Amino acid sequence: MKRRIVLLGPPGAGKGTQAKRIVGFTGVVHLSTGDILRDEVARGTDLGREAKQFMEKGELVPDRLIIDMIRGRIEAASDGFLLDGFPRTVPQAEALDEITLLDIVFDIELSRAEVLRRLTARRVCQQCGAIYNLNFDPPEDPTRCGTCGGTLVQRSDDCADVIENRYDVYQQSTAPLISYYDVHGLLLSLDGELGSDAVFERIQSALSE
Ligand code: AMP
Repeated sequence: MKRRIVLLGPPGAGKGTQAKRIVGFTGVVHLSTGDILRDEVARGTDLGREAKQFMEKGELVPDRLIIDMIRGRIEAASDGFLLDGFPRTVPQAEALDEITLLDIVFDIELSRAEVLRRLTARRVCQQCGAIYNLNFDPPEDPTRCGTCGGTLVQRSDDCADVIENRYDVYQQSTAPLISYYDVHGLLLSLDGELGSDAVFERIQSALSE
């Protein structure tokens, strides 16, 4: 089983949803730089205060901060990891190559129009982190999590103009990683329009090969 896994894709492609399923299937550690940063912001740490100004605008947090934040966590994950939202730039990918080898990189592809449609309808449980979509995975009560009863909220960066910027930043800074990993023979591209179950089936079989 492949256990050193990277998940690429524009915001809203379904990385968070697939990440939870991959972790359930493999038992590897889920390392989401977005989640770690949101936690730093919520706790008001120095890193959180510095990162917040970039995150609010949908800009990338500087490479140096991200690499320092994630390095130890990757090194500690001796039984494997799923990187979700990292790397996001070529310098981050180069730094990652110095920390560890990788087994596979999944790239979930989604058009700009679909990203906008999905993210404006995304809701996240404040308590357990469950992800819902008001269009195609609606909770019974649009304000309450169906799993834990927590409050459903919209991420502050899931508003239309910030989403547009995040998509542009992805195309500019992160899309070059697709050919970076293709050249290394690690890349498997997946069509995010296929829906969560079909995408996960492909991921499962690629992990087991
Ligand atoms: P995400 O939850 O992955 O969409 O990340 C939310 C925000 O956190 C992004 O829009 C960036 O501002 C920041 N962020 C997360 N991961 C990274 C990263 N690897 N490099 C730079 N910024 C990041």
